[in-house]
Amino acid sequence: MRSRYSAYCEKNSEYIHNTYANSKRAANSVREIAAFAELADFIGLTVYRFEESDNTAIVHFKADYLCDGYYCQLEETSNFTLEDGEWRYLDGTLTPHTEQKIGRNDKCPCGSEKKFKKCHAA
Ligand SMILES: [Zn+2]
Repeated sequence: MRSRYSAYCEKNSEYIHNTYANSKRAANSVREIAAFAELADFIGLTVYRFEESDNTAIVHFKADYLCDGYYCQLEETSNFTLEDGEWRYLDGTLTPHTEQKIGRNDKCPCGSEKKFKKCHAA
């Protein structure tokens, strides 16, 4: 799961695509993943819960990202399945968050202490 987060940060859509469960891969094209990864700047990851059994795992996490002048939070409880010796993303339940518009003179939400216009908006 952390490796998928890193792949989003690095905009490695092939990896994200390949770590979908076999049954889900066709519905999530590399092109669509790339379009999202291109727009979003990920700035943080919080893992609230991680439970693993023989071949399933549950991860409750929140990923913070900036997108088009908005501070967004993707919070999800995700189900992973073990396939061919690899953890793959099956599906998840989203917890809705409201996107917050960032003012150009506001502090950047990434924690840099710089103004947004001089940091991620630049
Ligand atoms: Zn920033």
